[in-house]
Amino acid sequence: MTDRSTSEPEICLIFPCYNEQEVLPDLLDVLRLLDLGIPMRFLFIDDGSADKTLPILQDACISDQRMACLSFSRNFGHQVAVTAGLKHAKGDIVAILDADLQDPPELLKQFIEKWREGYDVVYGIRANRKESWFLRTCYSSFYHLLEKSANILIPRDAGDFALMDRKVVDVLNTLPEHNRFVRGLRGWVGFRQTGVKYARPARHAGKPSYNMKRLTRLALDGLLSFSSAPLRFSAWLGVSAAFLGFCYLAYALGVFLSGKELPEGWTSTVVLILFLGGVQLIVLGILGEYLGRIFEEVKGRPHYVLGDRAGWITDIDPIKNC
Ligand code: UDP
Ligand code: MG
Repeated sequence: MTDRSTSEPEICLIFPCYNEQEVLPDLLDVLRLLDLGIPMRFLFIDDGSADKTLPILQDACISDQRMACLSFSRNFGHQVAVTAGLKHAKGDIVAILDADLQDPPELLKQFIEKWREGYDVVYGIRANRKESWFLRTCYSSFYHLLEKSANILIPRDAGDFALMDRKVVDVLNTLPEHNRFVRGLRGWVGFRQTGVKYARPARHAGKPSYNMKRLTRLALDGLLSFSSAPLRFSAWLGVSAAFLGFCYLAYALGVFLSGKELPEGWTSTVVLILFLGGVQLIVLGILGEYLGRIFEEVKGRPHYVLGDRAGWITDIDPIKNC
């Protein structure tokens, strides 16, 4: 094994980009001035942007040999863009960053130090969340739920901002699932992992593309791909409902045996029907979520379809175009 403390690795920085025309000029300036002390490459994934993101990136690739760009045929989503980046990245270390400068590239120096100490995955931990009180509560409950129910360690408050050794990237690239929750997969892979705390700045320019719907989708992907706890929960829900039903039956029997008149029964019937109907729908919904994901997987479609490419990218499958 090469000695990491003295070796000169090459690093590849991956940036998923979706409608980032406003922030890209600043990002490119930062990257041109960036010095991490080791050779660098940059890979941009244009996730089907509708603005000038792609032409800006293509121009940048012409003027800087270290830059390359892949574009998707449509918007496939952030996690898929990161997946494509990991697949086509070159180099001994690969880093994933937001294109909006929320993950400061110069912080990678600290990450590389950790890598030299022997860590294979170094991820950023958001020390200060700048979101609203409501979103912060949602995030913290989600990570709490995930920590309690997932079968693997998914570090709290760690996003996709991370640096990974080549061997980790190679393993990630062999994982076939379509519902990609990259930070979860990264945790699943194992090896030596550590976090570095950082104050996450606000978005440099442009608008965030994660709205509540997309965030919920990501949270569901995380929860359902890494835990079967919801299935267990639905079973418990069924058992609890049955238990309540049994209690009611015992009560009714008790009343009957003591010779008293049984209550008319309308309200209790309606309550029971509503309660049991609700429980059944919840359970069906949870089963449906898993079934939908299984359906996605069995279709076995490629994760993304490529459009244009520029720069040093060469390893594209010409038949599958991915
Ligand atoms: N992104 C993407 N595809 C999408 C949505 C977002 O590639 O469908 C990119 C986006 O350009 C950014 C990163 O993913 O570089 C994170 O997105 P955003 O900044 O909107 O998320 P937030 O930082 O608010 O979680
Ligand atoms: Mg962002």
